Amino acid sequence: MSVENPSVASSKGIVIIGAGLAGWHVIDAIRAKDKDIPITLVTADSGDRYHKPMLTMAISQKKSAADLVRATGVDAAEAANVKLLANTQVTDVDTTTQQLQLISALRSDPANTDYATISYGKLVLAMGAHPIFPKSLPEDLVWHVNHIERFGQLQEKLATGSQHVAIVGAGMVGTEIAEDLLKAGHQVTLIDLNDAPLSQMLPPKATARIAQAVKSQGINFLGGYQVSGITRISDDSDGKLQVTYEALASASNSMNAEPIEPLIVDHVIASTGLTVDDKLPAAAGVEFNRRTGIVVDAPTLRTSTANIYAIGDCMSIDGVPCRYVAPLRAQAATIADDVLGLEHNGYEHKPPMIRLKNKAISVMVTGVPQATGNWQVKTESDEELVMDLLNDSDEVSATLTIKLPPSVRA
Ligand SMILES: Cc1cc2nc3c(=O)[nH]c(=O)nc-3n(C[C@H](O)[C@H](O)[C@H](O)COP(=O)(O)OP(=O)(O)OC[C@H]3O[C@@H](n4cnc5c(N)ncnc54)[C@H](O)[C@@H]3O)c2cc1C
Repeated sequence: MSVENPSVASSKGIVIIGAGLAGWHVIDAIRAKDKDIPITLVTADSGDRYHKPMLTMAISQKKSAADLVRATGVDAAEAANVKLLANTQVTDVDTTTQQLQLISALRSDPANTDYATISYGKLVLAMGAHPIFPKSLPEDLVWHVNHIERFGQLQEKLATGSQHVAIVGAGMVGTEIAEDLLKAGHQVTLIDLNDAPLSQMLPPKATARIAQAVKSQGINFLGGYQVSGITRISDDSDGKLQVTYEALASASNSMNAEPIEPLIVDHVIASTGLTVDDKLPAAAGVEFNRRTGIVVDAPTLRTSTANIYAIGDCMSIDGVPCRYVAPLRAQAATIADDVLGLEHNGYEHKPPMIRLKNKAISVMVTGVPQATGNWQVKTESDEELVMDLLNDSDEVSATLTIKLPPSVRA
């Protein structure tokens, strides 16, 4: 099925906003139960199907963005009997008339005035979350790896030879992409506010090992520093960037009064977290928190507004965002049953196992980890660290297992 003109209004069926893993999972789940109900997929991108976790492994595996596409949006929509409105952004939701306002998302459409209105019977919000760009990381100077299109542009720039890349933010994505770029032959500096990677989810005893593994690999890890500014040092739009950064007063390195030489790098990647755009949730009147996303009723994935569901990076369950792939299949199956009016047992949320994809160190976590709390060591040796996080009732709420290969042991 070809991409249709958005100005042609769809009949009232199911409309899904967003063609990431969440949106496509919902389509698969509905089509497994009903081959015919009208589904419209509206997405700001091309709708191509790809596995986003691959973005932190692809460069060292020499896989281009095109290699990662499993099916183009057009082909996938045709196969699933879905009307695809690609390169189309939803700008407004009217819950009284159950209509959506659309514009062209193509930058080549200067006025973005291609307004159209479509109706929905049931609406699924699967619009993901956006990277946060702090003021010191201007969006026009830094990259992110939260979408295949932007990732593909970065990959093209990096294909010209070994370069120096600064990565700001050592959460899971920053720590993974740092290793991937290093393996691909680039010089990598990883900068974080905290003394060690993954410090926002794991205790210092564990993150110290991760820092050691990352450094011993050859990544220049700068922990306890804040990037204060980025400037391009030539007029050339591909010219080098100067990254100024300073020690945080709270960090262990703050006693070092030496002025810090700025870094001169070819590229900066921001991996400083995600936020959910409030525009559509506000228009739809759904219960919403900017940091954690759209609130859903866990057993049904319904939002607080009738006929509207949410799934994926844009939603949260019990105040916790769940930005992982594993739960999507079961969540999508529940949404499918619920929108089709079928009996179901209700979605039961289980936090997925979290696994860092780095090879220099194996980090696995079950449960819901947090940096602070009553973490207890179960096993501790040069090779392995196992810790449990105990809640107020002394029950295990998370378990962390770290294994170090011999090459990075102390
Ligand atoms: C680099 C990286 C590595 C990862 N690795 C792992 C991993 O190893 N394991 C794991 O479990 N998880 C991993 N994740 C997380 C996982 O990939 C995400 O949780 C998941 O892909 C989110 O899918 P989504 O469909 O909710 O969002 P997205 O993929 O962000 O899709 C959102 C879609 O909505 C569209 N959209 C947004 N706004 C609008 C609008 N107004 N109108 C129309 N369309 C709109 C966008 O164009 C896009 O198509 C990783 C994430 C990243 C970034």
